[in-house]
Amino acid sequence: MAKTIHIAAVSIPAFSHQASIIEFCKKLLHLHHHYHVTCIFPTIDAPVAATLKLLQSLPSTIDFKFLPPVNKQDLPQDVSPAVQIQLAVSQSMPSFRDTMRSLHSTTPHLTALIADPFANEALEIGKEFNLLSYIYFPPSAMTLSLFLHLPKLHEEVSCEYRDLTEPIQIPGCIPIQGQDLPEHFQDRSSLAYDLILKRCKRFSLADGFLVNSFLELEEGTVKALQEQNRGNRGENRGNRGKNRGNRDSPVFLVGPVIQTGPSSEPKGSESEYCVRWLENQIPKSVLYVSFGSGGTLSQEQMNELAFGLELSGQKFLWVVRAPSDSANAAYLGVGNEDPLKFLPSGFIERTKGQGLVIPSWAPQTQILSHSSIGGFLTHCGWNSVLESIVLGVPMITWPLFAEQRMNAVLLTDGVKVALRPKFDENGIVKREEIAVVVKGLMQGEEGNGIHHRIEVLKEAAADALKEDGSSTRALSQFGNQIENFLALK
Ligand code: UDP
Repeated sequence: MAKTIHIAAVSIPAFSHQASIIEFCKKLLHLHHHYHVTCIFPTIDAPVAATLKLLQSLPSTIDFKFLPPVNKQDLPQDVSPAVQIQLAVSQSMPSFRDTMRSLHSTTPHLTALIADPFANEALEIGKEFNLLSYIYFPPSAMTLSLFLHLPKLHEEVSCEYRDLTEPIQIPGCIPIQGQDLPEHFQDRSSLAYDLILKRCKRFSLADGFLVNSFLELEEGTVKALQEQNRGNRGENRGNRGKNRGNRDSPVFLVGPVIQTGPSSEPKGSESEYCVRWLENQIPKSVLYVSFGSGGTLSQEQMNELAFGLELSGQKFLWVVRAPSDSANAAYLGVGNEDPLKFLPSGFIERTKGQGLVIPSWAPQTQILSHSSIGGFLTHCGWNSVLESIVLGVPMITWPLFAEQRMNAVLLTDGVKVALRPKFDENGIVKREEIAVVVKGLMQGEEGNGIHHRIEVLKEAAADALKEDGSSTRALSQFGNQIENFLALK
């Protein structure tokens, strides 16, 4: 019988990243029955509630450990949640090292470490224990290509990226305007940019990248990454430490990794109510509107969206969150305020037959897989994007923060499975524009083309995950790399 191979995985305190790495580990263990994974989670204040739910249904081959929490109030308060998360992860590294030491001394054949890109300090710790060290990359290959390219871009460009008149050419990707780069890139004198640049430089420590995407979605990007890799191979030769031979840092596309269980259902009957409401709608007639696990709109934008949906006359199911002037205000936990009280007066009564409003959280994959859903107005978080592709739902892109604007460009200009509404000079999408785009997606000519293309992409996603599909093969190759390493150890 094959000996059990142990792998440690470390994520960050954010639901979508934790959920993604957990699902990836499940996929890995499904293919390699003799693997065992310990997931390690740095924590802010307390474990993420939605993640705790996911952890209830883990197979016995996955363990988990929460590191001692960092207090949110001890983190700088004048920075974004994304920066707070990164600082909390850095502060957790001493306890992560302690956990790894104890795991290393008690676990035979601890062979590899898999780290979230925003926890990549962990790679250095992995090397201390002579482990193969990988990045599990929850976003797109396009984002990985940007991150790997950043040190060079930083050297070549002296102004703010948003002031460049020409689009930026990320290797293997469609050209992108500076203002569509991730939010951390928008002010080069900021702490956020400094942190991301340091992180990107640390990527060179990785023995490989496991990316939550699939070949047919991002083929050009992957080819460019592989070519770069071949170019780097000579440079890296002999520099990889004991037993690491002459390997390069391959990019394995292992997605789409999406949530499979009904684990993110809202409490009690809300989920049931949601699905029951969908049961009574015509196939493909409902637009699902959601901004991910923590996206928020300003009060003004929330009003415009409400009036825009009403004006479109289209059926909708909207997950409403209390407004905030910061787009990712709810990222470190949804507040307790009732979001419905911020809707325009009389909205719920007026749209009673037209729409359903769900406060704060809904069972997204269950909703997207329902036959009544015909479109998804999304903030373009990568998990939401992949869920929509896997379930064949055309999109309206409404990026808010992180790398979501890049994802929106990929969806609209790249694979053309989404419409992108226009934001005015104050960064607001007006109600008339919303109504036009919603009708365009759900009923218009343009919508027809998008429906066709998303079906093709849905098939390709399903093919990638088949036994002989590109993502399954990539996962096997990753397994081979681990086993070869163990054999040499
Ligand atoms: N999600 C959910 N219900 C909600 C909001 C989000 O189940 O009401 C899930 C969604 O299905 C996805 C994840 O939370 O898996 C959000 O991840 P994404 O990358 O789209 O965005 P983020 O939360 O990182 O901004």
